[in-house]
Amino acid sequence: MRFDNQVALVTGAGSGLGRAYAIMLAERGAKLVLVDQPKGSSSQGEALGATSSSNLAHATNAELQQTHQAILKLGAECLYFELDVSQQDDVKAMVNRLQQDWQRVDILINNAGVYGACSFEHIQQADWQRQFDVDVNGSFYLTQALWPLMKAHGYGRILMTTGVSALFGDLHQVPFSAAKMALVGMVNSLSLEGEQFNIHINSLCPQALTAMTDKHLAPAIQPLFSFDTVTATMAFLVSRAAPNGQHLLAGAGSVSHGMFAEFQSI
Ligand code: ADP
Repeated sequence: MRFDNQVALVTGAGSGLGRAYAIMLAERGAKLVLVDQPKGSSSQGEALGATSSSNLAHATNAELQQTHQAILKLGAECLYFELDVSQQDDVKAMVNRLQQDWQRVDILINNAGVYGACSFEHIQQADWQRQFDVDVNGSFYLTQALWPLMKAHGYGRILMTTGVSALFGDLHQVPFSAAKMALVGMVNSLSLEGEQFNIHINSLCPQALTAMTDKHLAPAIQPLFSFDTVTATMAFLVSRAAPNGQHLLAGAGSVSHGMFAEFQSI
């Protein structure tokens, strides 16, 4: 599966799955647009309200820079933006710039997200709000800003990252599960609109060890998990052959939700 001459934008590209997705797409011929949040207090950015490829001196997110370097080493073209996906004006400014630079975006992977475990009665309003601002609103802003570009080209592939706890529930994961299920709903309805423009929208539910989850799982079980199935499924879901309006689980096949619950209590 090749992505030559296609432009792929990946949010949350600084770490975990986002980085793995970006590298895999670059290896398969895509040009990359990397997005992750500014980190640290000195993140003033430039006029865009964010740091972009043209102003890397202001970069604050070392992990995102590492992804950027890894992709440049592969010989792929790559643009870099440090911005908070929950800031709609920054998202719009980035898309305007992309329109000038590359004119098109074929693939959008909404992967930026936040994660935190908390018993229900102790959930703070600010944490609940942040979960929805980043995971749901951020995905909405990116998708809506890129929609006209994809429509104009008569082609688009959009992927939402969901989670096992969204589909089946998990202890102390109410905000995360609720936000990810909002994305499932978005896929279901938006895929109906996208069909006529050849824009396909799907979700991928990683059932594997990611940077987000390894903080919560015992090291002893880490070798059971692998990115490979997840990234391969991602490639299918953003390819020309992608279905529309589907939700795929991908990961270590033998790891059931019940086993996840067991691991968490080790
Ligand atoms: P996973 O394990 O699923 O890959 P990570 O926590 O490693 O999850 O990745 C989530 C990524 O999303 C991180 O790189 C993080 O910096 C990024 N991210 C979180 N919030 C925002 C935001 N508001 N804007 C942009 N990127 C964000």
